[in-house]
Amino acid sequence: MDDCIFCKIANGDIPTNYVYSDDRVVAFNDLNPQAPVHVLVIPRQHYASSAAVDDPSVWSSLMDSAVKVARSLGLEDKGYRMVINTGTDGGQTVPHLHLHLLAGRNLGWPPG
Ligand code: AMP
Ligand code: ZN
Repeated sequence: MDDCIFCKIANGDIPTNYVYSDDRVVAFNDLNPQAPVHVLVIPRQHYASSAAVDDPSVWSSLMDSAVKVARSLGLEDKGYRMVINTGTDGGQTVPHLHLHLLAGRNLGWPPG
């Protein structure tokens, strides 16, 4: 997707310090963090949202990478939250599938 900002981050068109990367996934800090730790984990391949995923292995790579990032940041003891906003009611603003990894404070529930 030529005009997708997260595709550009994933393919290196926008230079970004990755928190984690492998052949399927990259992770980087959110520009507008909502918690002391706010990492976005995205597939390199473009999917407009979770609703567009047609390959279950996308989920294993995304979730496995998110847990690896959480582990690498030492978040297991105090905990963390993983969120995937989908569509308008879900609050999605960037139309490239991404998982939010949030930690570092006590997160409220239910979400707004
Ligand atoms: P969502 O609202 O779930 O679609 O989340 C999109 C997230 O992407 C928001 O938390 C934004 O702060 C974040 N974001 C948008 N552009 C960038 C960027 N260039 N680099 C890092 N994070 C970004
Ligand atoms: Zn994209």
